[in-house]
Amino acid sequence: MSRGDPGARRDGAGPARASREEIVAIDKRRVWHPYTEMGRYRAEVDPLVVVEAQGSRLRDADGRSYLDGNASWWSSLLGHGHPRLVRALARQSETLCHAALAGIAHEPAALLAEELCRVAPPGLEHVFFGDDGSTAVEIAMKLCLQYWAQNGARERNRLAALEGAFHGETLGATALGGVELFRRPFAPVLAPVVHLPPPREPGAAAEQCFERLTRCFREQGERLAALVLEPVVQGAAGMYFYDPEYLRLARRLCDEYAVFLVFDEVFSGYGRTGPMWAAEHAGVSPDLLCLAKGFTGGMLPMSATLVGTRLFEGFLGSPERAFYYGHTFCGNPLGAAVAREVLRIFEQEKILELARPKAARIAECFAELGRLPGVSRARSLGMIGALDLAGPDGYLAGAGWRVYERARARGAYLRPLGNVVYVTPSLNIPDADLAELLAIVSESVAEVAAGAA
Ligand code: PMP
Repeated sequence: MSRGDPGARRDGAGPARASREEIVAIDKRRVWHPYTEMGRYRAEVDPLVVVEAQGSRLRDADGRSYLDGNASWWSSLLGHGHPRLVRALARQSETLCHAALAGIAHEPAALLAEELCRVAPPGLEHVFFGDDGSTAVEIAMKLCLQYWAQNGARERNRLAALEGAFHGETLGATALGGVELFRRPFAPVLAPVVHLPPPREPGAAAEQCFERLTRCFREQGERLAALVLEPVVQGAAGMYFYDPEYLRLARRLCDEYAVFLVFDEVFSGYGRTGPMWAAEHAGVSPDLLCLAKGFTGGMLPMSATLVGTRLFEGFLGSPERAFYYGHTFCGNPLGAAVAREVLRIFEQEKILELARPKAARIAECFAELGRLPGVSRARSLGMIGALDLAGPDGYLAGAGWRVYERARARGAYLRPLGNVVYVTPSLNIPDADLAELLAIVSESVAEVAAGAA
C-alpha cells in the first residue's frame, strides 16, 4: 500500500497488508479480470478475496473457507500448496531461478524432458517448453506448419479441429477454437481451420461425425498439416465427452494421409479423466502432445509440447530450417523442478489409484443429479462431473451463476460454464472434502433446478 492508503496494516516486518475493502476497491479500479464484463463486475460483483489456499480449500479475507470445486481452473491437481511442491520450489530457488534456454542446458529442464518422454504415450521423444496451455498449442501449430513448409509440401497449410474445441487464447489457438463467442471478434484474421463435429451422441449422430472426419481427409487430407484434438473431453465447451473410437479413426486417417495428430492434453492430462493421458482411452499415441495446467501442479505457469522423431528431424540440416521460436521463460528451472516433483508425487503417492474411488463418488452424485427435473443431462468421467441446467444454453446463459451464488454461500467455489455446472476437484481431495463438495453441489443445484422446473 503506497500513498498512505487508510487502513493499511503492517504485520511484523512483512509487507503492508491491505484490508478486504481496500483490495476490492483497488481491484475494481485497476484489474481487468479474465472472461468478465467489467461494467457489471464493478457495479454488482462482490468478489471472493482469497488470501490463502491449502489442499482443496481457499480461505478468504474474512477467514471463511471454500472448497475449490474446479481446482483453480483445473490446474491444482495435487491440491494447493502441496508441501513437496513447495519444498521443490524453495530448494530450486536457492541455486538457479532462471537461465535462458538458448544454448544453455540445465538439470531441471534436461531431467524433466527425459522423465516426460518416459511417461508420455509412446513415440514422443523431444520436448519444447512453453509458458502455458495456449503457447503449448501455438508451438504445436507452428511446428506442424513449418515442418511442411520446409519439407516439400507447402500446400499443407490447413489445420483441422473440432466444433466446440478450446485450445487457448493466442490468435493461433483461437483459430483452432470452436466456441463461436470467443472466435467472433477475431474472425477476419484467424487462420483457416476446418471444424468437424465431435461424436458426443451415440448412434446415427456419431456415425455422421465419423463419416465427416473420413470425408474431410478424403477431400483435403493432402492439404492438412495437422488435426488438433482435446482427446475424449471438450473442457471449455462445457465438459462434453465424446467417443474414444473417434481418436482411433483420427489416428488411422492421419497415418494414411501423413497428417500430424496433435493431442491437447492441457486439461485432460495427468489423470483428470482416469488414466494418466486421455489418449489411453483409445490406446493411441499422438504425434505431438501439449501439456500445461497440472503439469506444475498448478503452481507455476509452464508448459511442454512433446514431439516425435519424424517432426524433430524435419528441422535439422541448415540454419534456416531451425524453429525460430522461444519464450523468455521457456524451460524455467523453478517450473521444471516443480514439474519433476509432480511426476514423482504421481508415482510415489499413487495418485491415479487414489483418485479411482473418488471418481466413482463423483459419478454416483452426478447420476443422481441427472434425475432432477431442472437438469437436462448429467455426465462424469474420471475426476470430472458435469450437468446441464435446463433452459438456455451456451457460455452466456445465467443459470450456472445461480448455482454459483448458492454454492458460495454454502462454502464452495463452483464457477460454471454458462448453464453447465461442473466439478473438477484435485485428484487427491480428501474424502471428507469431496463428500462436502458434492453435498453442496447437490443442494445448490436442487435449489436452482426446483426454481426452474
Ligand atoms: N487447451 C485446453 C484444452 C484448455 O482447456 C486450455 C485452458 N482452459 C488451454 C489449452 C489454454 O491454457 P492456458 O489457459 O494455460 O493458456
